[in-house]
Order: sequence, then structure tokens, then C-alpha cells
Amino acid sequence: MHLMAELIFLGTSGATATATRDNTSFLLKVEKERLLIDCPGSIISKIKRVGEDPTQICTLFLTHTHPDHIYGLPSLVHSLMLVEKNLCIYGSPETVSLVAQLLDLFKLRQPNIRYQTTLISINSGEEKKISDTLRVKALSTPHHSSSLAYLFSLESIGQKWLFSGDTPPYPPLFEEAREVDLLVHEASAPQRFFEAYPELKTVHTSSFELGYLASRAGVKRLIPCHFFGEVDFSLEEIEAEIRANYLGELFIPQDLDFWPKNKRKF
Ligand SMILES: [Zn+2]
Ligand SMILES: [Zn+2]
Repeated sequence: MHLMAELIFLGTSGATATATRDNTSFLLKVEKERLLIDCPGSIISKIKRVGEDPTQICTLFLTHTHPDHIYGLPSLVHSLMLVEKNLCIYGSPETVSLVAQLLDLFKLRQPNIRYQTTLISINSGEEKKISDTLRVKALSTPHHSSSLAYLFSLESIGQKWLFSGDTPPYPPLFEEAREVDLLVHEASAPQRFFEAYPELKTVHTSSFELGYLASRAGVKRLIPCHFFGEVDFSLEEIEAEIRANYLGELFIPQDLDFWPKNKRKF
């Protein structure tokens, strides 16, 4: 028996989708478990396009309350309303409160909805057991009052994977990143857009800053994501800015990509 974990990029753009990139979200496969990180639109279609079954997803982690990360949730629950299943939804107390309102707005927690949702608050610094071989720790980030990064301990393969969510450069996140096997971190745009729009500096990270901070923290494997669709740049520019400082393993994802690419066995 070989152990495996796989990350699927259901979307890689920021708030504005493009013709080829949808809002950022991930499907995490760990052995038989299927977990979602964030839930923008057309989520059912995207899960099916990568050959997975939406009804097999048991857990959803929400990073924060911005629409590009949660607006697909009512549609997910509505789509699966005939399925006898429970979805555990994790988020900060603020996120969980908004999700409750969102689901109730669409009457998606009523007896005619077979697909149940269990909302679970997780505080910054708190660690929760998801299954026998999976734990998650939350870390608040300064992007928004509801924002959490998630650190997954994948015990079956002995690895730690850290997801930043949306965030400006945040040193405590890179302290955690020193120990991890994989860092998935936003790199919303090249540095020149942060000079043109300085207000971005307190809420997002440029590809140049990400490369610098990942290099200083000795990050082994880095995957940038959440690329803005509303300004014009290429992923080659993102890669070049990261590579200006960072020499570790780097993967620049496209929508519906899998990582590791070669389905390497752990
Ligand atoms: Zn976002
Ligand atoms: Zn955001």
C-alpha cells in the first residue's frame, strides 16, 4: 500500500476571474478523504471536471468572508440537497456567523434539505482533529478580521501543508512556514501593481515579496496562487519575481492542475 496526498487547483485567480482562471479554491485529497478549501462559484462543475465526486467531500475550510471565497456555498448545498450527507464547515467565528446567515437566507438549513451542514468555529492558534490522520491548526492573518490561514498535519504521509489564504506579508505565517513541507501562499500580482496601488500593501502579497520571505524562511516547496484578474500580467512575470530570491521547489499552478504533477508516491 502506498500513501498519497494530492492537491487540486479548482481555481487560481483573485477576486476577478479571467477566461481561463476562476476564483481560488482547492480540493485536497488525502487517502480516501476529500476536503475543500474555500468555495467560490461553479464548484460542483469544477470538482466533476477533475474527476472527483462532490458528494464525497466531507469537510470545507473557509479562509474568510470575502465573496470570492464563499459565494459558491449556497449553490453547493442547494445542488446536493437530495444527498443524505453532512458537510462540516470550518471557519473563524466571524466566518461561521456569516455562513449561518448566508445558508438561512437561502433556507438551506431546513428539514427538506437532506444535505446537512455543521458549522465549526476555529480560533487562531487552535488545533482541531479532522480525522484519525488529519489535524488542522488555524492562524489569523491581517487581510481581514475574519481571515485564517490553515496548517494541515497530514499524519498518514508525515507532512505539513500550510495555506495562507489572502494575506499581506505576515511574519508569523513565515515562522510556521519554516517547518512545513509545502507552502501555498497568495501572490496576487507583481510588485509594480503594489507601487501603482499602495492600498494593496496592507491586504495582499506581491510575487516579489513572497519570493523574498519564502527564501528567508527556508521554505522547501512553494506554490503561489490568487492571481489578480483585473490587472494585466503573465504568470511568467510572477515566476520571475519569485525566482529573484527563492531557489526552492516552485510550482506555478493553472486551473484544474494537480500537484504533485507526477503523482509521486510519498
Ligand atoms: Zn480573495
Ligand atoms: Zn479577501
